[in-house]
Amino acid sequence: MKKMLIGSQWVHSKDGRSLEVVNPSDGQVFDTISRGTSEDVDSAVAAARAALSGTWGDLNATERGRIMTAISLSVLSHEEELAQLEARDTGKPLTTARNDIKVLARYFEFYAGGADKLHGETIPFLNGYQVSMVREPLGVTAHIIPWNYPAQMLGRTLAPALAMGNATVLKPAEDTSLSALRFAELALQAGLPTGALNIVTGLGEEVGAALAAHPGIDLISFTGSNEVGTLVQQAAAKNAVKCVLELGGKSPQIVFEDVDIERAVPIIVRAIVQNAGQTCTAGSRLLVQKSIYDQFVQRVAEEFAKVRAGTPEMDLDCGPLMNPAQLKRVHSYIQQAQGIAVIAQGQIAEDVPSTGYFVQPVFFGPVPRDSALANEEVFGPVLAALAFEDEADAIALANATEYGLLAAVWTENAGRLQRVAKAVKAGQVFLNCYGAGGGVELPFGGTKRSGHGREKGLLALEEVSCTKTLVHYHG
Ligand code: NAD
Repeated sequence: MKKMLIGSQWVHSKDGRSLEVVNPSDGQVFDTISRGTSEDVDSAVAAARAALSGTWGDLNATERGRIMTAISLSVLSHEEELAQLEARDTGKPLTTARNDIKVLARYFEFYAGGADKLHGETIPFLNGYQVSMVREPLGVTAHIIPWNYPAQMLGRTLAPALAMGNATVLKPAEDTSLSALRFAELALQAGLPTGALNIVTGLGEEVGAALAAHPGIDLISFTGSNEVGTLVQQAAAKNAVKCVLELGGKSPQIVFEDVDIERAVPIIVRAIVQNAGQTCTAGSRLLVQKSIYDQFVQRVAEEFAKVRAGTPEMDLDCGPLMNPAQLKRVHSYIQQAQGIAVIAQGQIAEDVPSTGYFVQPVFFGPVPRDSALANEEVFGPVLAALAFEDEADAIALANATEYGLLAAVWTENAGRLQRVAKAVKAGQVFLNCYGAGGGVELPFGGTKRSGHGREKGLLALEEVSCTKTLVHYHG
């Protein structure tokens, strides 16, 4: 059974219970992890607090950056081992898993460089005063992450927090904790001091809820579903703890009649089938101008029909879904869609295990504007096409869901590109491209019900720190 990291100790949960780890490609158990308790969360928060007044808290920003560089290099030198582990834990194709590990290393590389680059300010004030503003870590930061990109998510949330000098407690998703545990071993070997990183594995309603409600934390950073994000924010609010929420999406691909079709089509298909559609930034709504709707949708259908799902070793376009609950959820959306035309379907490779959680990728359209497929996050390889009349209609349709995470605009008209990008409510807008999963450097986060707070880029460093204004009267 895999142990958890609390302080410098690898420990079992206080009550010794465990959870099974299942390979989504064949539904078979291949490992177990500790099922942490609220007492384990107490110990982890205490270990993090102690680290702030220990070796970790004493390091200066440049020294923290050097340790993070060492972590990044260690991740890269263990890329294949970590990728194999991640692929087995999530079912994703090996090429995708390898890329995820590279991105994990890149997060530590980027924020290693950022650690000593976020400077303070001096502020003109009254005569006889010297005023400066410095940035300090928040303290103990708690991080709850989902199962879709476990390695990327842990890099995204932990690297900026550590760069600013916070001490962290991570709760990985119960389905996918293995890469985080192996990463922690590498981080300690690379010189990360005791207590800077603590990992408590276990169930969301046990470990996650205890962490979100803990009075000893100074920030909770949550990535996951809207339902749970709301619970986390409520729990944090009781202790007046700051909350960063990265939630769901229903991101539109807005395609105008002057689109460069051959360039757009493969990118649009990839943006929904990548990770079997289990991507918060999946381009799940294809909005196409009426004048080219039939022609464009036909080209997307040809490409979509080539999509193949298989095991990690087959290394096809996507893998299985994460677990039986996810399979049931996606099937229920497909069943509800009866009456809506299927434009194309991808295939599941013939020799996948029958016990794996595979679903056939499917492209529906035209989808009614008020249907579930047009408005709700499926979190599976399901693409919904809708037609629009003109620019105004496109903007209204793009903004018609409760989400606002990502959007893409496809047109060769530069003015239209800018107008539509400005009018769409989203944390990121891609202009004639699409960046699901990419861009460590690019500030990222939701508007509307997709959440609040920013990750990625240098802005993430501000999110995990606070300012202190020093007012000095010198006469
Ligand atoms: P989820 O909300 O079920 O779980 C996310 C994490 O929260 C897991 O670690 C889980 O154990 C924990 N959790 C569950 N119940 C909890 C509780 N009561 N209190 C505290 N923690 C709890 O989400 P999921 O199914 O793992 O992920 C899918 C969702 O995540 C989708 O909606 C997707 O869009 C979203 N997501 C968003 C982003 C983003 O950056 N915006 C990225 C990835 C996934």
